[in-house]
Amino acid sequence: MPLPADKEVSFRESVNLCCDLAMATLDIPEGMAKYIRNVNNVYQVRFPVKIKGEIETFIGWRAVHSDHKLPAKGGIRFAPNVNQDEVEALAALMSYKCSLVDVPFGGSKGGLLIDPRNYDRDEMERITRRFAFELIQKDYIGSGTNVPAPDMGTGQREMAWIVSTYAAHCPGDIDHMGCVTGKPVTMGGIRGRVEATGRGVVFGLREFFRHPEDVKRAKLEGNSLEGKKVIIQGLGNVGYYTASILQEEDGAKIVAILEWDGALVDPKGLDVNDVFQYKCDNKGGVKGYPRAEYVEDSKSLLEMECDILIPAAMEAVINRGNAAKIKAKLIGEAANGPVTFAAETVLKEKGVVIIPDVYLNAGGVTVSYFEWIKNLSHIRFGRMNRRYEEGQSQLLIEAIEKTGNKVPVELVEKLSQGADEIALVRSGLDDTMRKAFQDIRERFWSNEKIPNYRTAAMAIAIEKIHTSYRTMGIYP
Ligand code: GLU
Repeated sequence: MPLPADKEVSFRESVNLCCDLAMATLDIPEGMAKYIRNVNNVYQVRFPVKIKGEIETFIGWRAVHSDHKLPAKGGIRFAPNVNQDEVEALAALMSYKCSLVDVPFGGSKGGLLIDPRNYDRDEMERITRRFAFELIQKDYIGSGTNVPAPDMGTGQREMAWIVSTYAAHCPGDIDHMGCVTGKPVTMGGIRGRVEATGRGVVFGLREFFRHPEDVKRAKLEGNSLEGKKVIIQGLGNVGYYTASILQEEDGAKIVAILEWDGALVDPKGLDVNDVFQYKCDNKGGVKGYPRAEYVEDSKSLLEMECDILIPAAMEAVINRGNAAKIKAKLIGEAANGPVTFAAETVLKEKGVVIIPDVYLNAGGVTVSYFEWIKNLSHIRFGRMNRRYEEGQSQLLIEAIEKTGNKVPVELVEKLSQGADEIALVRSGLDDTMRKAFQDIRERFWSNEKIPNYRTAAMAIAIEKIHTSYRTMGIYP
């Protein structure tokens, strides 16, 4: 199969090419392969909203790539450059992502062509509610059909508006809370969803370092993230949580943070929370931060020496133009599609290992799945069993002490805590990320036809989607 290393292809073509590479390692009939690869349906809508006395027309999309499992799942992106092709590519990635990590959803994605910086809060609310209404009307939102979530340019606030619009239009739906995930906790959200994608990235990296063979392949050393030099591109939601957890819980050194208005560098390690606070207080920029070196051309820092490079913002930041100059040993794709297809070919030749988006950023949708389950079961995780578990642990401690042995105070404290919602969410996410990486590496190391983790991950995902369609009865 010819690999276009000498020219860039679009994001959508790139996802399709990755899919084809994976298909080539599987035994799937050609017609079925074609069906799985393509988007099932896409709805484009134009709608008017009165802004500052004038009528403005907005355009948006919701694409469903696969519905082998329902609901179809995926974020809604508000961005000034989003288009149908991108939404379709992202919807396809959602299918593969969910399938890979055993989240029982189809894949979908939405986009609204808008620059949110140009509108105030009230205007954004009207626009979001109107977009939600258009999608509800055409059955593109609902707990059993299609469940949006936050993505670039959207967050808890927008999800709250969407659920409230849905509830107003579908008053009898007892499961209305499950029509969207990533909601505020006070509106049916789940603890741990905001940090989920970033924490998932860290869980994924930790699992990678548990496998010496894989660490060696990336020319790295050790069995943990301690002391590793990390570059973070994009300090948004995903980048921030990834960086801050890596620094605080794993002892990694965040040597550079790249943002739209420049980059900050400190070989001894930046204080992520301090930088983030500065960014929040300064209209989302890092320029002027006093406690690190500032570099205006932030993109040039992608080429800086480091152990791990984590692109956590947008597509195609690592491309034909800079791939040959990348010095990182490992690239962790926290964003969707940050490495282009052409760049991946160059990086492979250089021996740079990539942990792909389809796996590494699946933490968001995994915790969305937990939120959806919480919404459908109408009960918070831990509510039934937490105190019971605490009582059982208490009994155990008493039993041990009756034998004359003393349980150390710090253990008593730990043992006496029943699992609450956040602990359960993190535990479920950790388990999901560990298991998926083990599946990927096992497929990679056991099949010579598979050149990298991405193809391994895609092959596992496609195989499961194929099995679902097949058992549905599309062909015997
Ligand atoms: N937008 C996120 C993603 O790309 C989350 C999707 C979800 O939670 O449904 O994975």
